[in-house]
Amino acid sequence: MMFQDVRAVYFDLDDTLCGYWDAAKAALRETFELHPIPGYTTDEMTLHWAAAFRVFGADLKASGWYEQYCRTGEPTRNEQMRLTLERVGIADATLTKALGDTYARIRDERLTLFPDALEVLDVLREKGYPMGLITNGPADIQRQEAQTLGIESYFNPILIEGEMGFGKPIPEVFARALAAHSLEPHQTLMVGNSYKHDILPAIEAGWRTAWIRKPSDIPPSATGDAKPEELPAGSPAPDVEIRDLKEILPLLGL
Ligand SMILES: [Mg+2]
Repeated sequence: MMFQDVRAVYFDLDDTLCGYWDAAKAALRETFELHPIPGYTTDEMTLHWAAAFRVFGADLKASGWYEQYCRTGEPTRNEQMRLTLERVGIADATLTKALGDTYARIRDERLTLFPDALEVLDVLREKGYPMGLITNGPADIQRQEAQTLGIESYFNPILIEGEMGFGKPIPEVFARALAAHSLEPHQTLMVGNSYKHDILPAIEAGWRTAWIRKPSDIPPSATGDAKPEELPAGSPAPDVEIRDLKEILPLLGL
């Protein structure tokens, strides 16, 4: 049994337990359908949003937005919409805010757990495994997501980038998670969809790792030919790659 020593399981949230990218893509489409931009199709506006994101979202820390972003998702979300409109020659603060608000509302409405998630969380809870959540993103958005999905009560601790002021892959995040359960690193399993943010730092901390990889794991800001993240050449492999969260249960002997 691969994970026989594991005594606690930590999960990433977005695109590990729930389909955040799918919710974001649906919300973008619906936002530009509800607020049509004259002369541009919904698809064209979504591509403009993606192009703006690839510049703006790439380095929030260097651009001075990071502190605000940690507290709340609204300022960067609206700035992202302002930059999108700027690309099509529109400067309109009211429309900018309407687009940002609509996008946030619909994204939350469309957010759902993956079909395999609840069953796995229920089994682990029933078997007495402590579970934690380690998630990057603004404090208010990440709390809202956990509440919308109804999964807060499964996890202690819930470690959110926005609340800590730093996030994965910084080693301190994993040190905090480990300290919460007085366990050795090899007794802790990290389950996540991002090699760079979830898996590599957990391997470097001495944790066990399960990399969940789904074909849908492509962000809305990606270019049209983008593929899901691959294991970088020369990087250490996770203990296991999975397609479905249920695959971890037999590895734990459950
Ligand atoms: Mg994720």
